[in-house]
Amino acid sequence: MSTTAARSIEEPARSIPVAAEYDVLVVGGGPSGLTAALAAAEDGLRVGLVESRSFVGGNMTIGLPVLGFLGQKGNQIIDGLPQKFIERLRRERDGASEHRPCPLHMGITLVEPEAVKTVALEMLTEAGVDVLFYTFFAGVVMDGDMIRGITTESKSGRTAMLARVVIDCTGDADVAYRAGVPCEKGNADGGMQPPTLMFCLGGVDTDALRMSIANAPPAARTYLTDFIPAEYFGQNHQFIVVGLRELMAKAKEERGLQIPNERTIIITGLKKGEVWINMTRVKGTDGTDARSLTKGEIEGRAQIDDIVTYLVNYVPGFEKAYFTKTAPFLGIRETRRIVGQYVMTQEDVLACRHFDDAIAVASYPIDIHRPADDGCTLIWCGDCYDIPYRSLVPQKVTNLLVAGRSISATHEAMGAIRVMATCMAMGEAAGRAAKISVRGNRAPAEIDVQELRRQQLERGVYLRNPQGTRASLADLAPAA
Ligand SMILES: Cc1cc2nc3c(=O)[nH]c(=O)nc-3n(C[C@H](O)[C@H](O)[C@H](O)COP(=O)(O)OP(=O)(O)OC[C@H]3O[C@@H](n4cnc5c(N)ncnc54)[C@H](O)[C@@H]3O)c2cc1C
Repeated sequence: MSTTAARSIEEPARSIPVAAEYDVLVVGGGPSGLTAALAAAEDGLRVGLVESRSFVGGNMTIGLPVLGFLGQKGNQIIDGLPQKFIERLRRERDGASEHRPCPLHMGITLVEPEAVKTVALEMLTEAGVDVLFYTFFAGVVMDGDMIRGITTESKSGRTAMLARVVIDCTGDADVAYRAGVPCEKGNADGGMQPPTLMFCLGGVDTDALRMSIANAPPAARTYLTDFIPAEYFGQNHQFIVVGLRELMAKAKEERGLQIPNERTIIITGLKKGEVWINMTRVKGTDGTDARSLTKGEIEGRAQIDDIVTYLVNYVPGFEKAYFTKTAPFLGIRETRRIVGQYVMTQEDVLACRHFDDAIAVASYPIDIHRPADDGCTLIWCGDCYDIPYRSLVPQKVTNLLVAGRSISATHEAMGAIRVMATCMAMGEAAGRAAKISVRGNRAPAEIDVQELRRQQLERGVYLRNPQGTRASLADLAPAA
């Protein structure tokens, strides 16, 4: 390996073409970027979306169920655009399940990755969003504390794109970081949740799997699944298994398998006999560093064989299972978080805090795949908590918004707000805030948040009133 980290060269200044000008430019087309672009485009603004990959959907395309639609009391707490997206997936492509209650995850919504890519792109195109694939955000064009646009790298070379408001939905706060917004990474020691290369198996008898758990003798049940009663598996055909710790420990001991995870995590797919495995784990990976990402891909892939050996030889229902594919990329749980106008904390989550500037409601527990060992920390709050608009508004740069997992939150709060239904809800709010900002010629930090909340409610977004039930327009504070 010939790395020359200590050396540097001068890159000569040059003129680059302005490839496009937008009212709102969304960078990153994952769960948050999808809804941000759709909301920003809803009444005719010129909206662009730049995506480094050849498809939209982000982590919704790596075999994960969408979590976060249902709250800890079982009610639906995400509606609006995310719900419309799921309904269309289900209606047109058979590409989504119902929102299924789950004692551990609150609600799981299975989605078919290929359907996600197709339907998301259809919705963006129909909304008039100018989608540009194969294009990597490279840098920012700044004018004092304003972001005038971004530079990109692609097969076309380096170009610039200008916009009145930019929304950073890269998951890594790439745009905010380059624009000089203060950012944090990881926990107090800088440790970040480890990434996972998801993979898919076919030929699994999922009924045999679930009934082996449901029918286990009571004495054996305590160790089978984490927080999910055995009876649940007798009643549900689509599910997530988290646990089987003793089976895995046995397999490791008997076969010397190298599996850097304490828990077996199996997610049923929408297709019969298909399951997605969320078990590789590459500690120490930094998702903002290309070399570290590459190492993560290599190590994640190398872990798959031992995990398959374990599943096929030890877990009921996997006797005839076969490997089919890996996800298109290593799934990154955590990198940068911006420091915004408000930093969400663990206390906010656990106190089920209300905020006057709430733009979305969440309920997923704090769920941290611990950076330094093979375990996981889970803490529930018992109900819902609000996401304040101020956590989407960065410090220092006036016309930038951030949505998705890199909003302004501590490591612990991010462990709760990072799930995809919540990210879609944040994206929708950011897109609508950007639209209000452009229409009103006011910086995102200066917009009337009660007007944003009013528009959110009018478009079917779920917000809470002070009593903790679904808010209506009558619950809003008068516009400033
Ligand atoms: C292994 C794993 C398991 C998880 N399990 C679940 C689960 O079961 N359910 C759940 O709901 N959530 C789960 N999560 C969390 C969830 O997937 C993420 O937190 C969520 O997808 C974040 O959404 P986002 O829009 O912020 O970013 P992402 O989904 O990461 O999307 C970011 C998008 O931006 C693009 N992009 C990034 N950088 C650039 C750039 N520089 N230029 C151009 N484009 C760029 C990417 O290609 C991508 O399309 C899991 C995450 C991981 C990694």
